[in-house]
Amino acid sequence: MVKISDKILSADRDTDFLLSTQPQSRFEILNRISVSNRNVAFLLEVEMKTCYKCKKEKSLTEFRQFKSGVNKGRYGSYCHKCRKEYRKEYMKRYYKEYPWRRTHKYIISRCCWRKGNYRKHKIKDYITTENLKFLWFRDKAYLMKHPSIDRIDEKGHYALENCRYIELSENIGRSNSMRGRVIKQYRSQK
Ligand SMILES: [Zn+2]
Repeated sequence: MVKISDKILSADRDTDFLLSTQPQSRFEILNRISVSNRNVAFLLEVEMKTCYKCKKEKSLTEFRQFKSGVNKGRYGSYCHKCRKEYRKEYMKRYYKEYPWRRTHKYIISRCCWRKGNYRKHKIKDYITTENLKFLWFRDKAYLMKHPSIDRIDEKGHYALENCRYIELSENIGRSNSMRGRVIKQYRSQK
């Protein structure tokens, strides 16, 4: 760790007055204080930073550094741990307000998952978030216990005309009965 006094003297700012033996004027004293304050703040920022949320002093690697924008190069005020918690809470609130966006997120991940069955059966996502919002209110999904998106034709794609919101239990029942049918077909073929 660099000694603060050394750092102050080696700073690029006008610090000649710190070396002079002359008595200092009021301006110089004030300037000296402000320079030292600035340097101390600068040093603290380089070495450690106090998290705004948990008030713990942590090393700078524990903070997110902005890569672009007005704050480029600066560090976030929350440490990684607090930021993660904050994001979690935020997304919870966000999806409570826009539940159909969560549905869309799941649909996208289901259809994009490389090893998944959806990719295998070439089921694609043609639905938009706006469509899902429309379905949400059409099917009154807000009254359901666990609303889930269902494809009416199980071989069809995710599209506005092929989708509806139903209770999760009903959806699971449907997929199980479908699976049962497949097993029956398979056994009858044997
Ligand atoms: Zn924190």
